[in-house]
Amino acid sequence: MTTERADVLITGGLLVSGDGITRSDLLINDGKVTELGPDLSGREARRSIDASGRYVLPGGIDSHSHPIFGDKMDTYSMCAAYGGITTVAAFIGSETHRHEHFGNTWGIRKYNPDIVKGFIEFAEQTSYTDFTCHGLVTMRDKDDLHKVIPELVKLGACSFKLFMTWNPFVLPTEDNYSNLMALPDDMVMMVMHHAAHNGGMVMIHAENGTCKAYLEDQYRGQGHTSPEYHLKAAPSIIEAEAVNRAATMALITGSPLYPVHLSSQEVVPVLDRYKDKGLHLYGETCPHYLTLTNDMMLRHGYKYKVAPPLRESHDVEAMWGGVASGSLNTIASDFTGYTKNLKITGSREGKVHGNAPEPDPSEIDIFNVAAGLSTLEFMMPVVWTHGVNTGRITLPRFVQLFCENPAKIFGIWPKKGSLQPGSDADVVLWDPARMQTVGEEHGISDLNTFQDMELVGVPVMTMVRGEVIIDDGKLVGKQGRAKFAPRDPNATAYAPHGPTAH
Ligand SMILES: [Zn+2]
Repeated sequence: MTTERADVLITGGLLVSGDGITRSDLLINDGKVTELGPDLSGREARRSIDASGRYVLPGGIDSHSHPIFGDKMDTYSMCAAYGGITTVAAFIGSETHRHEHFGNTWGIRKYNPDIVKGFIEFAEQTSYTDFTCHGLVTMRDKDDLHKVIPELVKLGACSFKLFMTWNPFVLPTEDNYSNLMALPDDMVMMVMHHAAHNGGMVMIHAENGTCKAYLEDQYRGQGHTSPEYHLKAAPSIIEAEAVNRAATMALITGSPLYPVHLSSQEVVPVLDRYKDKGLHLYGETCPHYLTLTNDMMLRHGYKYKVAPPLRESHDVEAMWGGVASGSLNTIASDFTGYTKNLKITGSREGKVHGNAPEPDPSEIDIFNVAAGLSTLEFMMPVVWTHGVNTGRITLPRFVQLFCENPAKIFGIWPKKGSLQPGSDADVVLWDPARMQTVGEEHGISDLNTFQDMELVGVPVMTMVRGEVIIDDGKLVGKQGRAKFAPRDPNATAYAPHGPTAH
C-alpha cells in the first residue's frame, strides 16, 4: 500500500464508462487518475469527496463550438464547466465573420497556422476548461493547402472544417465573403486529399448550398420571409444529398469524414451505407435535433433559427435511433452564444435581458437572422433527461457519445474522455435525482435554447485535471490554468492502430 498522500480521493460513487457501470473509488494525483478500486477509503488524500448516490463520469468533450460571436472562450468555457464539460473544441481558421459588427474575430486575413498559435495562447489565459481546436479552411487557403494542412496537423489541429453551404446572414460584400466560406466540390476534394495524406480528417457542414440559395431566393422574391420559411428553404433532402456527395468524395480521396450537426431522418441510411463501404465516417448530431422540432420556430420565431433547421418529430426520433445504433457517434453543442441583439441585427451591444423590447416579428426577415443556438450549458443534462431517463440510450452509451467517442475520433484518447489510471482527472459528479428547471446560462447569451425545460439529473461537480472548477453550482475554478490538448493523428479512431469509436 502506498503511503504517499494523494491530492483527491473520491469515494462511494458509481463509475461510468462506455463499457459499463461499476462501484469504484478514484484516486487522483498531479492531475491524473492514479488508481481505481472498489474500496480506497483507507487511502490518504488532501481532499476527500463523498460521491455516494452519484455517478462519476469522465468530463464531457464539446467537439463543436463557435466561441467568437457572443460568448468567447471565457464565458463559453464557464458554461461548459457548469454543464459537465471539461474539454472544448473551437473552430479556428482563416475566415470567420467579416461583418464590421463582429469585429476582430479569429483569423481575419491572417495565415491559418498563426491564427491557431494565437488562439492557443489566448485560450490558455482565458478558458476555465481544457481545450483543443479544429482548423477552418476557406477559399482563402486554396493555393496554400499543401503547406497549411501539414502545419496545422503538426500544431495539433488535425481536423478541418469545410462548408458546402453558408447561411447568408452576412450577404456578400466587397470581396464576396459568402463565397469564401462555401466551398465548391473541387476545393472540398483538395482539402480531403491533403487531409488523407497528413493524418487529418474533414469535418463538413453538409447542406446543398445551391439548392438552399435557390429556395431562399424564391421565397424572398415572393415576400415569404417569416420563420416557417427557414425550414422550407432547407429541406432534409439537401442534407442527405450533401452528406452522400461528401462521403463519395471522402471515399475517393481516402479521407476520414465527420459530417457535423446532422438533423434529418433521411441522412441516417446515407451514413449507414457509407460506413458499410468502409469509409471512416463519424456522424455528429446536437442536443436540439434530439429534443426540439420546427414547432419551436413557429411559436418563438427567430430565436430558434439554426442551420440546419429544427425539423419534425420523426426526425427527432430518427436522431435518437441513430445515436443508439451507432449511425451517429457524437453529440455536440454547435454553440454560438448569440445575444438577442447580435442574432437579429449583428450589433455588439451586449446582453439584452427580458425587459428589452421584443422586435415586431413581422419586421424580421428570417433569412437575415444569424443561425445558431445557445445549447452548451444544458446539453448534457437535456440529453440525460430525454435520453437516459427515457431509456432511449443507456448511461454507458451517454458516456460514449459525450466523452469516449469525441476523444477517440479527435486523437486525445485516453488522455481525455476516460477515467482509467493515467488519464487526466477530468471528472464530473452527477446527481441522477436532482431536479432543475433550466434558467439562464452563465454566459453572455440571453437566448438559452432550453429555457424552462424540466431536468432530472444534473452535474453537481466538475473537475479539470483534479482541480474543482464547479462545486455545487458555484464557480471556484480560475482562469489561466487551462491547457491545450494537442491531437495525435496516430491515436485517432481512423488511424491504422487507433482506438475504435462506437
Ligand atoms: Zn457549427
